[in-house]
Parts: sequence; structure tokens; C-alpha cells
Amino acid sequence: MIHAGTWRPECPVSLSDLRYLRIPYLGFDGKRHIGEIIVHRRVAKEVAVIFAELYRIGYPIHSMRLVSDFGGSDFRSIEADNTSAFNCRGVSTGRKRWSKHAYGLAIDLNPVENPFVFADGHTAHRASRPFLKRRRRDNTPASRAMLLHHDAAVKIFRRYGWQWGGDFRSYKDYQHFAK
Ligand SMILES: [Zn+2]
Repeated sequence: MIHAGTWRPECPVSLSDLRYLRIPYLGFDGKRHIGEIIVHRRVAKEVAVIFAELYRIGYPIHSMRLVSDFGGSDFRSIEADNTSAFNCRGVSTGRKRWSKHAYGLAIDLNPVENPFVFADGHTAHRASRPFLKRRRRDNTPASRAMLLHHDAAVKIFRRYGWQWGGDFRSYKDYQHFAK
């Protein structure tokens, strides 16, 4: 039960359908780190391959810890610029249904650099404001962590059939990939 993350009995997925993964990633410091992530067993192998490909293209990741390290708070995980997947929670649009994260079938990648942008153009996170303008200004890790439409990182997810929140029509969820 140590790596159950935010799982509890009322979640829409059974604990036996979740997999805890340790994932090598390239940090903003240019060094190799081992991250932790929980995903649905159906996508576990694929997620490991996707992150291996992200590593290979030099895509930097700020942090990769379980949302349970942040008390299950999506907001706090985002404030820490933390990449995560499984979180037993509802959708962030306020409607009463489970998020794909509650099934371990969605990944939020570098959420500060890739904010959820409301239809009126605002973000709930101050640190994300410089990233509302979706244009790469320099070669810093934060700039390279920004996901833009023709980026290799986005293409990797697409190749495995993951939908990107940067393609959403009204609001944008640039951090979000879902299967
Ligand atoms: Zn998401």
C-alpha cells in the first residue's frame, strides 16, 4: 500500500489496475533523476517508453513525484511544477465527474510551463503567467519545457495515441495528455 498514491476505495479504478513506476528523466539541472509516477496498468509499458523517448530528445522535466506527496492537492502539485499522472479527483472544469487522472490515464507534464488556461485567458498559477504567451524565447530548461504544437515531445505522445490538451477548443490544458 506504500505506493497507492491518492487511491481510496471510492476511486473509479481498482488498486490492482494501477502501476507504480520509477522513471528516469532529465532534470532542469541537466542531470539524470529517477521520478515516481502511478498510471493505469494498460498504459504502464507505454508510459515508460514515452518517458524514455522524452529523455532521448533531451526534453527537461522539473519534478516527478506522486500527488500524494502534496496531500493529493492538484494545486500544490502544480505549484511545485510537478509532473504526475494518477490522482483520484474530479475534472478541473468543475463538473461532477471523474478526471482521466482518476483512472491513471492522463499525464500532466511540467504544469508551470504548460498551464491550464481558462477560456478568458487566465491561469490560476502566478508562476505560469510568463508562459501564457506560447512562444519559446530562449534555450533555458523552462523555455524548452514549454509544449508547442509542432514539438517533438508532443509528437511522441501523439504517436502513441494520446490526446493533448493544447488542442482543446475553449480552454487549453497544455500540460495534459490523455489516453
Ligand atoms: Zn491533466
